Amino acid sequence: MTVVSRRAFLRTSGLGLGLGVLGGCAPAVRGDFLPRRGPRVVVVGGGWGGATAAKYVKLGDPGIEVILLEPNRRFVSCPMSNLVLSGVRTLESLTRGYGGLRAHGVRILHREASAIEPDRKRVRVDEGYLEYDRLVVAPGIEFQTEQVEGLAAAGDRVLHAWKAGPQTVALARELQAVRDGGVVVLSIPPPAFRCPPGPYERACQVAWYLKRQKPRAKLIVLDASPNIISKTGLFRAAWRAYPNLEYRPSNRVVRVDPDAREVTTDFGDRLRYDVVNLIPPQRAGTIAVRADLVGADGRWCEVNHVTYESVKHAGIHVVGDSTIGLPVPKSGTMANAMGKICAHQVVRLLAGRPPEPMAPVNVCYSWVNDVEAMAVINAYRIQNGKVVQVEQKLTPGQSAASGRNALAWARSIWDDVLA
Ligand SMILES: Cc1cc2nc3c(=O)[nH]c(=O)nc-3n(C[C@H](O)[C@H](O)[C@H](O)COP(=O)(O)OP(=O)(O)OC[C@H]3O[C@@H](n4cnc5c(N)ncnc54)[C@H](O)[C@@H]3O)c2cc1C
Repeated sequence: MTVVSRRAFLRTSGLGLGLGVLGGCAPAVRGDFLPRRGPRVVVVGGGWGGATAAKYVKLGDPGIEVILLEPNRRFVSCPMSNLVLSGVRTLESLTRGYGGLRAHGVRILHREASAIEPDRKRVRVDEGYLEYDRLVVAPGIEFQTEQVEGLAAAGDRVLHAWKAGPQTVALARELQAVRDGGVVVLSIPPPAFRCPPGPYERACQVAWYLKRQKPRAKLIVLDASPNIISKTGLFRAAWRAYPNLEYRPSNRVVRVDPDAREVTTDFGDRLRYDVVNLIPPQRAGTIAVRADLVGADGRWCEVNHVTYESVKHAGIHVVGDSTIGLPVPKSGTMANAMGKICAHQVVRLLAGRPPEPMAPVNVCYSWVNDVEAMAVINAYRIQNGKVVQVEQKLTPGQSAASGRNALAWARSIWDDVLA
C-alpha cells in the first residue's frame, strides 16, 4: 500500500529519480517505466546465474512478471573460451542469443542497473527505476585493478581475457603474433577468483599452442598461490607434456609496465615479456558493492544457503560468482545450480510458502590440449541450513572421453541457461 502511494506521489511530483537523486540534471523523469503486470521479479545480470534464475522463475510460475537487465545483447560463454586462445574454437561458437528466454516470457532490457534501493524495493536504470517484489542480483565479478600498480593505466595494453569477449580474441591474436623464442607471461591472482582451475587450463592451452606453432617460445606462469589450487595432481601430470611451461608458485604480480613490457612480483623480481596475460584480483560485480551487499572486506556477498537471500538486505537474492561463504567454486555450473534453486525458492516465497532446502552440485571440466580433458565433481547436501560438501571426485586422468563429455556438458548447460 505504501509502495503504491509513494509511486503515485513520485509520478505526479516529478521526483522519481532525476530531481531527487541527481540534483535536477537528469533527463525527463519517467518513474517506474514498466508498470507492473503482477508480482514482479527483477534479475540483474544475464550471465550463467541470472539468465538461469530468470528462466526458472518463469517456468516455476508463469504468472510472475520477470524482467532481466543485461547490457550485452549476446551471451558469450567463459567456459571453453580458453580454447579460443589455442585456436581450437572460435568465440562465435561460444556465443548465443537471448531469444530462448524471451520465448519463455522473460522481458529483457539490454540496460545496466545503476543502483539498488533495498528499502524502496526498486532498481535504478538510467532515468527511471523498476519496482520489484524480489530481486535477484547476478553481476558476476569485477577486477580490482587498483591492486596491481600500473594496471588501471595500462588499459587494453595488458589483457585479462577473464570475461569472454573482445579481450579473448585480442589475446589469441597476440599469441599468434609472438615471435618464436618469445616469452609469454600468465599471472594468476590470489584466491578467491572466478573458476579456480581456469588459469591452469589456460596454461595448458597456451603451452599446447606454443609447442606446436612457436616451439622455441616459453610460457612462464606466475601464481600468487603456493601451489596449483584445483585438480593439482592432474594439472601437474598434464604439464609433463609441456616442457615449454615454467611454473613459479608464490609469485604475486604487484606491478606491470607495458612500456618496458615488464612485470614485477612481490619479491621484487622483474620479468620481461613479449605477451602478458594478467588475470587481476577480483571482487563481486560493482552493482553489488554499490548496493551494500558485500561483506566487510568489500569483495563478496554472503547469502542464506537455502534461499540465496542476502544476509544484509531482505528481498534481495544473490547468485553466481558474486557470492561467498558456501564451500563451492565460482563456476558456471554452480551459478546455474544457484540460479535454479534460487528461482524455486523465490517462487515459493512469493506464494507465501516456506523455502525448500535443495543442495547444488558442481562439475567442472578442464581441457589440457585440443581433444583431452579432465573433470572434478562435487556433491553437496544441506545440513543445519548450510551447504556442506559430501564428496569430491576427480577423473583418474585426462582423456579424449572426458573431452567428449565436456562438449556434451557445454551444449546441455548452455541450453539449460538460455533455451
Ligand atoms: C577462462 C574461463 C573459463 C571458465 N571455464 C569454466 C568451466 O569450464 N566450467 C564452469 O563451470 N565455469 C567456468 N568458468 C567460470 C564461469 O564463467 C563463471 O563462474 C560464470 O560465468 C559465473 O556466472 P555469473 O552469472 O555469476 O556471472 P557472469 O556469467 O559473468 O554474468 C554476469 C552478467 O551480469 C551482467 N552485469 C554486470 N553488472 C550488471 C549491471 N549493473 N546491470 C545489469 N547487468 C549486469 C554482465 O554483463 C554479465 O552478463 C570459466 C571462467 C573463465 C574466465
